[in-house]
Amino acid sequence: MLTKRRNTPASTAVLNLIQESKIALSHAEIQERLAGLCDRVTIYRVLERLTEDGLIHKIINSDASLKYASCSNCDHSKSTEPAHNHVHFSCLKCKSVVCLENVQPEIILPEKYQLIEVNFTVSGICPNCQ
Ligand SMILES: [Zn+2]
Ligand SMILES: [Zn+2]
Repeated sequence: MLTKRRNTPASTAVLNLIQESKIALSHAEIQERLAGLCDRVTIYRVLERLTEDGLIHKIINSDASLKYASCSNCDHSKSTEPAHNHVHFSCLKCKSVVCLENVQPEIILPEKYQLIEVNFTVSGICPNCQ
């Protein structure tokens, strides 16, 4: 219990919500779905904590809004590699954002530049909107 941070009902609820969702969720969507279970400040804090703990990751959408998704295939054990280096797909019609975990862009940086995180969002039309 000393090494692991205590799970609050709010963090469990937010994590469950994100894990059960097939698409990435924004702060507003999370707040709406929790329907008054916790206030916006609590949700912000929970999202920051879950991101720090590597349970979820942030996605910067093509319209610069922030979304959150859970990590199902991310391997955090390899500390030399960035944990979230997959591509995200943003649908222009339904505005849904999903992780394409099998699509990984290869970015080769010039010497002495160290890669920490890749934020790669591809926009287009998702299978549901075709
Ligand atoms: Zn769509
Ligand atoms: Zn992702």
